[in-house]
Amino acid sequence: MKEIIHIKVGKITLQKNARAKRMILKVKPRKGVCVTLPLRASYQAAEQLVEQHLDWILLQQKKHATRYLNLDTCLTVRTKQIRLTPTPANHAKIEDSEEVTWLHIPQKWQLNTPEIQHWLQDQLIEILRHEAKKYLVERTHFLAQQKGIAIHRVTVKNMRSRWGSCSSKSNINLSLFLMLLSDELMDYVILHELAHVRHQNHSQAFWNHLEDLLPNSKALDRQMRGVELPL
Ligand SMILES: [Zn+2]
Repeated sequence: MKEIIHIKVGKITLQKNARAKRMILKVKPRKGVCVTLPLRASYQAAEQLVEQHLDWILLQQKKHATRYLNLDTCLTVRTKQIRLTPTPANHAKIEDSEEVTWLHIPQKWQLNTPEIQHWLQDQLIEILRHEAKKYLVERTHFLAQQKGIAIHRVTVKNMRSRWGSCSSKSNINLSLFLMLLSDELMDYVILHELAHVRHQNHSQAFWNHLEDLLPNSKALDRQMRGVELPL
């Protein structure tokens, strides 16, 4: 294994693997840029591969970028807030009330370390996943039934690069980060995916169908493009 520091993309891990048939470039949320290469390939070839895909790597890094979390962090999930608060205790604890889910953080913890930041991210994501499994799944089945659209499974996933998808078997996947949007935008994404049950593309017929399901859908689509995740 070899590590290099690239001036534009930071740390790159180059790893030879006997089972690798060709070079594989990945940008992972926590490990960063990784290239797996066959034993016979040179590290120089891997570095060239990185150079050829710089724009793509920078785009992936932007998608993975997460916000720094601290005691002022406050996420709004529909009518509820998720907040952090210091505690003199030695252990972190989650306390759920009607209006706020409190994440109690030991005062002695150093919030600015990568380990604690990743831990906080994970906790907040699990809270969002819990809320998403309750709300989004039921809401999708409700809207599908209301619009007379037959679907199979609805699955909530930890995905940042897309809000949702619809398979050819009419299975709907939704990002748990949708829970951070307004009810109106959540419905937009759900109906957008439901419209894909009939049209597996973004043709004019798709947009016409979506407009029938949800008037003003184009404006909502534009709003979605400007959304930035607070997490
Ligand atoms: Zn689409």
